[in-house]
Amino acid sequence: MHSATPATDLSQHTPMMQQYLQIKQAYADCLVFYRMGDFYELFYNDAVLAAKVLGITLTQRGKSAGEPIAMCGVPYHAADAYIARLIKAGHRIAVCEQIGEASKKGPMQRAVVRILSAGTITDDALLTDALQQNIVALCVGKHSRLGIATLDLSTGRFACFEIDDSPQLLASELARLAPVELLISERSDLALYQAMVDCQVLRRPFVDFDPSNASSTLCQQFAVSTLAGFGIEALPYAQAAAAALLHYARDTQKTDLLHIKRIIHEQPADFVTLDATTRKNLEIIYPLFAHGTSLFDLLNKCQTSMGSRLLAQMLMQPCKDQAVLQQRLDAIGFIQAHALERPLQSQFAAISDLERIISRVALGSAKPRDLVHTQHSCANAASLATLLASASGEQPTLIANVVLALQQAVYPQLASYLATALVADPPMLVRDGGVIKEGFDAQLDELRHLRTHAGDVILALEAAERERTGLSTLKIAYNRVSGYYIALSKVQSEKAPAHFIRRQTLKNEERYTTPELKDFEDKILSSEARALAREKHLYEALIGHIQAYIAPLQQLASSVATIDVLQSISSIAHQYQWVRPTYQASSGINIRAGRHPVVESLINTPYTANDTQLNADHKLVIITGPNMGGKSTYMRQSAIICLLAYCGFYVPAASACIGPLDRIFTRIGSADDLSSGKSTFMVEMVETAQILNHATAQSLVLMDEVGRGTSTYDGLALAHACILELCGRIGALTLFATHYFELTGLAHLPYVSNMHVNAQEIDGQLVLLHQVRTGPASKSFGLQVAKLAGIPLHVIAAAHSKLSELEAYSQPRQVATGDLFAQYTQAPVVSEASVHALYAPLMAMLAEVDADNITPRQALDVLVALQAKRPKV
Ligand code: ATP
Repeated sequence: MHSATPATDLSQHTPMMQQYLQIKQAYADCLVFYRMGDFYELFYNDAVLAAKVLGITLTQRGKSAGEPIAMCGVPYHAADAYIARLIKAGHRIAVCEQIGEASKKGPMQRAVVRILSAGTITDDALLTDALQQNIVALCVGKHSRLGIATLDLSTGRFACFEIDDSPQLLASELARLAPVELLISERSDLALYQAMVDCQVLRRPFVDFDPSNASSTLCQQFAVSTLAGFGIEALPYAQAAAAALLHYARDTQKTDLLHIKRIIHEQPADFVTLDATTRKNLEIIYPLFAHGTSLFDLLNKCQTSMGSRLLAQMLMQPCKDQAVLQQRLDAIGFIQAHALERPLQSQFAAISDLERIISRVALGSAKPRDLVHTQHSCANAASLATLLASASGEQPTLIANVVLALQQAVYPQLASYLATALVADPPMLVRDGGVIKEGFDAQLDELRHLRTHAGDVILALEAAERERTGLSTLKIAYNRVSGYYIALSKVQSEKAPAHFIRRQTLKNEERYTTPELKDFEDKILSSEARALAREKHLYEALIGHIQAYIAPLQQLASSVATIDVLQSISSIAHQYQWVRPTYQASSGINIRAGRHPVVESLINTPYTANDTQLNADHKLVIITGPNMGGKSTYMRQSAIICLLAYCGFYVPAASACIGPLDRIFTRIGSADDLSSGKSTFMVEMVETAQILNHATAQSLVLMDEVGRGTSTYDGLALAHACILELCGRIGALTLFATHYFELTGLAHLPYVSNMHVNAQEIDGQLVLLHQVRTGPASKSFGLQVAKLAGIPLHVIAAAHSKLSELEAYSQPRQVATGDLFAQYTQAPVVSEASVHALYAPLMAMLAEVDADNITPRQALDVLVALQAKRPKV
């Protein structure tokens, strides 16, 4: 039996274990990877846990405090893969390295050099390319304000802002930022925030979030005396959240954060808000089903990971700033007009993930190939600029800015400096040498010369000894265990001269050394060690050299990412014949021949394009038609076209003119959310409540099948009331798909109109045309679709006869007509406060009852009086 928990009295442990336990105590929330030679070892509980997650053998190591110690280990070289798996399983890892020399007394010195977790990894082997790795920090401030900051440590992107502290606002910001780790103050409510995200929530020291220190922490990081230049000087809680992030980044990286040079003030009001449900329903980044295709998957023709990440970011935060949108559209038009997509794509092949390389350079963890990639990327900046500049005609602003940025002289300078310093194809690690090019450093060359010419020296020595002794079998050889030795055959060994010192006897051979050979060996071996040390020193200096270029390298990375996204959209737009959208100041959506980009790319048949028209006179469209008729697809395509337009991208339509939008809401499909204990109907109502409580006259709302999860009358009544609210009181632009035909009667109201998806029955066969036409559907075709789905024909026949029976007996359920909007909007809004006021007299009566001293007769009287006073709501 081994022990999974160590004895608490440190003095009972061996000195090495004492060291380990002290380190472990300081990093109790991490698995400690304790470096021992070529392995990282884990002990006690850490070992039990890691062995289970990684499926590796749990062993034991000696005893400490009288108990065998549970242990498992992973080889240093292969550690990345194991670390990635542990992080994926939600663990944090403290990497504890051997530092300094082994001493005679006590164990080798060790220290934690880095903490790795979902948010703090910067190594390529551990990262996914396409998405940001946002760590988000929240600072709950006074006056119901909330500071939010976000940092992607692997690229250095750092941003902050403040919002009103409302759960709904926070939820949609968290959906946008998609954190991989969330930091809150140790005094905040962990359970509250944990319920809002599906990543780890970490409680950090309260002082880290102190607004009074935040400004100086940030100024120090950016080497400025005021935050005015970043536009956040009046946002104490945004600053505090940002400062907390910096503390966290420093604590985990244990080094300066040279690549974090500025902070962006994000204004949520500048973006079109998409809540988590909408992002999911529109399949913006991830498909709803594992093998599906998301919008991002379709659009991502980016050649660099930087481009892919920027594309995802743009899709996550559609922007309202017309200047930004027009600049992007101008640039896409320019790339398309000059057919620059393919030439750009081939240029990008030589450009690596600079954003992340820069972070590793800044954190001092860059590997030799990172530097070679930096060299190639810099070498390509000028030709990228030339390619863009060679296109005729006036350059749009965005292209002109990028060309200017790429033409900076620093890139070729740095590239040629690195070319003189680095070999073309260096090994993975600097540890084994062979990274620095010959001719870069005279001292290194000399040390290497000694080593490479050792063979010649040995041959000369061998010839001299052979001649001196006259022994023909004498040879000088080398092996790792014995080093250099002189070998003589057994027969000739008797004639070995006196200065030969015997080292080893084999069956047929005797091995010797001489003072001269020993001397030579020392020189060779030390030259090798010295060459390696020199190379390491030069390598570190090289990283230091690149660190001075972090700002221009970040600019190169962002220029490349921008152009990569634009060429990607341009290629897609070209392939599928998308058009440039326009924008209008008045509320409305006017799409001609719109298509759903993902459905269109997946189906083998031609896609049926449809128009979408919503405006001040037609705010709400009720869409009816058969199942599978294309209602959901139509609604989604309308929202996606709006989203793309607000990303500044071309859109899949013959034309699109979009008015102002503040949010896009969707209530589509019905899926049980059993993991959070919500039934289908509950999910549907929660989503509907979100919309009714937060939509405005500038929102686009998609409602698919509201009220389907309950009885027909309940559902119809709810759907009916939702339409009145959305159209009558809120005035949102709404597409409302439903199977309740009764609702089509609402089209007599102002702002409401009917559309249907077209289907025909030809020879008893249902043909779905996917055309959206004005007016309500003529019938529902439910049984025909059921037949298409393979329901046995006798069941369909039985359903037909039941349907005739039902239709014969039931009254058509018409919804009430008349001036419904006027009635609805004139009725008082029932708020919690108003309900409270209505019931206040009853509560007062009840409070007066002395329950201990009341007769049954008096109690009945109170009951009657309460009933009489009951409010009518
Ligand atoms: P239900 O009422 O059962 O939810 P629906 O009316 O919402 O059905 P969709 O899910 O939108 O129907 O569409 C069903 C399928 O029809 C889609 O998966 C797609 O393959 C195809 N489809 C929809 N619209 C079109 C279109 N405009 N052109 C071509 N195919 C389409």
